[in-house]
Amino acid sequence: MIIVKNTEEIESMRESALIVSKTLGMLASEVKPGISTLQLDTLAETFIRDHGAIPGFLGLYDFPNSLCMSPNAQVVHGIPNDKPLENGDIISIDCGALKNDFYGDHAYTFEVGEVAPETKKMLDITKQSLYVGIREFKHGNRVGDVGYAIQKFTEDHGYGVVRELVGHGLGRKMHEDPEMPNYGKRGRGKKFVEGMVVAIEPMTNLGTHRIKQLKDGWTILTADGKPSAHFEHDVALVNGKPELLSTFKYIYDALGIVSDEEDEFRQVKL
Ligand code: MG
Ligand code: MG
Repeated sequence: MIIVKNTEEIESMRESALIVSKTLGMLASEVKPGISTLQLDTLAETFIRDHGAIPGFLGLYDFPNSLCMSPNAQVVHGIPNDKPLENGDIISIDCGALKNDFYGDHAYTFEVGEVAPETKKMLDITKQSLYVGIREFKHGNRVGDVGYAIQKFTEDHGYGVVRELVGHGLGRKMHEDPEMPNYGKRGRGKKFVEGMVVAIEPMTNLGTHRIKQLKDGWTILTADGKPSAHFEHDVALVNGKPELLSTFKYIYDALGIVSDEEDEFRQVKL
């Protein structure tokens, strides 16, 4: 059952989403060769608590840390450890925060130092696919329209779309209805309704879409060992249109990137 949110609840969710956005922005300055994912995890936990929120992933389904840290061939759900990041790595950081009973949940894949051009391109296409999907989250459309658009765009570029892990409704629970796959058929699935909030999160592999899981019971990685990217935004359906609750602005500010990619999805100014 889809749980719709009223205006006040959506503003609460924006607050939670923006705490995650600011956390990722803080991390953007720290991601460099030599730092470990566990050090980044500690920084994030402190930052989230200093902003009056609780790390959304810590303890959720017994996950041991505040961040999911998935380098290189890891797709999602990687567990932070003390291995230093190296020049040329990519690191997908997924972050959650709980404030005023509502969750924020979004993710970005960062470059560590100088990254191979083919990997850089995959990051760019995956991020673009996120917006291709968000554009379809509008009045009259259905879950399958978002999935179809992401899948088509991604596969047209020759990449693999992960099937086993999907986006989701978001609210007082981290995972609410509906599931939001990054593949699908036009016109299929649940119809979008005003006031619903979803996390849209394409997971894209440079090679095969197939994945495997490590024995730790968490870490998902590509079956062929090639790199994978993950970008995620929280989006509400407001006035029949997608309204971004999260932002990559703080990341871009830290990295000196100028972008207007979010402007078309923002009815409320940041
Ligand atoms: Mg996430
Ligand atoms: Mg999510």
